[in-house]
Amino acid sequence: MSKLTDKVAVVTGASKGIGAGIALALAREGAAVVVNYASSKDGADKIVAQITKEGGRAIAVQADVSKQADITRLFQETTKIFNKVDILVNNAGIYQWGSLEELTEESFHSQFNLNVLGLLLTTREALKHFPEEGASVINISSAASTLTPATSSVYSATKAAVDAITHSLAKELGPRKIRVNAINPGMIETEGVHAAGFAEGDFRTLVETNTPLGRIGQTDDISPSAVYLASSDSKYMTGETLLISGGWR
Ligand code: NAP
Repeated sequence: MSKLTDKVAVVTGASKGIGAGIALALAREGAAVVVNYASSKDGADKIVAQITKEGGRAIAVQADVSKQADITRLFQETTKIFNKVDILVNNAGIYQWGSLEELTEESFHSQFNLNVLGLLLTTREALKHFPEEGASVINISSAASTLTPATSSVYSATKAAVDAITHSLAKELGPRKIRVNAINPGMIETEGVHAAGFAEGDFRTLVETNTPLGRIGQTDDISPSAVYLASSDSKYMTGETLLISGGWR
């Protein structure tokens, strides 16, 4: 039997990148998957089509997960179709790096509103739908939370907050059999990384030089760990941050 048969997973920001990879991997282990997206309907529809073609079950749901009203609707649409939620992957996130002189209040608030507040609001909403037998929450943090590279101050701060939230919620929700863990990826080649200009040039060279395994990561370097944290294979694990960075620390 597959590891996630009869489970229902919500993956935020799954129209591309790491979230899309995780959505596909969870579906391949038998989970019904909600592919959330903000604006890339085509991307989300493609992931749903791929899951369906492989014999899995999935729906695409648009929702800006930095907004409570959208989050409420995301879970309403999820439970209307799949009745419950067993796995929540808080993956949607943005990264806007820049020097202190380049800092704007708008950039600060948009990163904190999605990466931190959105993650908290989404988890709070999911609580209403988790079954009594328990659930797994997987937060996508970042190696940046501890590496704190130059010009990443706001982004790294959002991910350090995600680590702290992971540790605290694991303690708060453990008695309800809700496990809360994080995956902290190093640099992973995604649409977002290409758009930010990290995939080429000096920054990529810096990462590869400092990475013992000598390369940046791909989404399938991350997705097996999400399957692990979602499944009963990790049933005695909570409050953990799993660094997956090719050894860059
Ligand atoms: P990406 O390629 O830019 O994809 C981001 C995804 O998030 C898209 O599906 C996007 O949907 C969705 N999204 C953005 N804003 C949203 C919102 N307000 N509500 C709902 N969905 C939203 O990003 P990625 O590189 O895969 O990164 C995914 C996560 O991993 C982020 O939390 C990031 O911080 C973390 N991470 C990434 C790396 C890396 O090197 N790639 C490393 C460490 C951690 P639309 O396309 O519809 O906007």
